[in-house]
Order: sequence, then structure tokens, then C-alpha cells
Amino acid sequence: MRTPIIAGNWKMNKTAVEAAAFIAQIRDGLNAVSGVDIAVCPPAIAIPAVAEAVKGTKIGVGAQNMYFAESGAYTGELAPNMITPFCQYVILGHSERRAYFGETDEGVNKKIKAALAHGLTPMVCVGESLEQNEAGETHSFVSGQVKAAFAGLTAEQATACVIAYEPIWAIGTGRTATVEQAGSIIGGTVRATIAEILGDEVAQQIRIQYGGSVTEKNIAELMAHPDIDGALVGGASLKPSFVELVANAA
Ligand code: PEP
Repeated sequence: MRTPIIAGNWKMNKTAVEAAAFIAQIRDGLNAVSGVDIAVCPPAIAIPAVAEAVKGTKIGVGAQNMYFAESGAYTGELAPNMITPFCQYVILGHSERRAYFGETDEGVNKKIKAALAHGLTPMVCVGESLEQNEAGETHSFVSGQVKAAFAGLTAEQATACVIAYEPIWAIGTGRTATVEQAGSIIGGTVRATIAEILGDEVAQQIRIQYGGSVTEKNIAELMAHPDIDGALVGGASLKPSFVELVANAA
């Protein structure tokens, strides 16, 4: 049995003060939900405040990115051991990082390995653009992203990862993939690619989230699909109704 996981990606929203105040609003509600793993991923500067605010709860904390090197001349970056005192998770390869900050498949692969070496759970994002979707390239593109991200990982390392399938056309657009669309790519492409490169056992164990305009209204329907193991949530994780979303997922 795979434990579903709902993670909130706050992106570049909420100062440290706002973040701590928001956690104070939602923490008891989230903590009362059982049957799902829960994580919030604030902007880096707010991570220590959020880690403090969730102490004593089951709410996990994730970073939205990190660099793969241990230290050095990488202005503006954070090393794995800078986030491990506060975080259990790290989002890697989000489509916004790939689109605006030049993240490559190769870099994402290095970051996954570094995160795992430091005991972090990577949430590895993959997903196709609208153009690729309309050109019928979703399967080959997403499968290629999964192969590149997981290159050189052992079965044990891969099982420790979470994958988020996020069609770019559904992120922040209010246009959610249908359950059939999301489920068929997650099962028929993402999980199938993991089976191809790492075997069936890993494919059955690894958790695969859907992401893209998930709300408290559509989460239950998405979660009913046997291949969808939770969600990576952007906009809807910034509001108190995130509690309802997580409860509906459970
Ligand atoms: C995301 O940022 O990963 C995301 C899915 O955003 P939204 O839920 O706002 O579409």
C-alpha cells in the first residue's frame, strides 16, 4: 500500500512572518487528518520559521529547490546540508525552474542523487507543455524526463522518491487534467517507465502525485484513481481551505 502524499508548493509567496502565521491557522486542522502524508514547501527564507511552527505535528517541510554541490562558489544557491536541519522533502525539477532558471534533466538527476545522499525525499516533477500535448508527444517526452531523472539510481533510491506528474498546461491555469488523462499518463507513462528501467516492484512502490490546478473540489475525484497517490498543490495550498483539500484527499 502506498501512503498518499499531499504537498503544498507555495512558490514565491508568503514572507517568513506570513508563513508562520498561516501555519498557526492551518496546523491543527492538518494535524487532525490521518491516512496521508502532508508537506508544505515555503520559500527558502521562510523554511526555518515554518519548521518551528510545525514542530510536534505530522506536517512535513520541503524546500522548493536546492543545489547538488556540498559547498562552494555557487552564489544564491543552497546546499543539501543547509536544508536538512529543517526539511524532509525537496521539490526538484519543477517546470517553473526548468522554464525560467535553465534547469536541465542532467542537473535534476544530480540534485536527486544529492538529496537522497542527505536523507531527503525528492519530489521529482515531470510534465509536458501544451504544444507537446497537442502534438501527441506526451508519452515520449514524459517518459524521457523520467528516464533522465532516474538514471543511475538503485531500486532502493528510486523507491525513496516521489514523482509529481504536472502537465504544464494545467499549472496555475484552472484547467485540471481529467482523472482519465492524469491517471493514464501516471499509470501508462510514469509508472510504466519506472517499471521499464527499475522493475515492477519499484513501480508499484513509488508514489506518483498529480499536480495542476488541484483544489479542495477536485482532489477526491483525482485520488479515486488507483494510480494517483496524492497531489502537488500550488495556488490552493496558500489558503486556509488547504485543510479541506487534504481532508478530502484522505
Ligand atoms: C505547482 O506549482 O506545482 C502547481 C501544480 O500549481 P497549481 O496547483 O497552482 O496549478
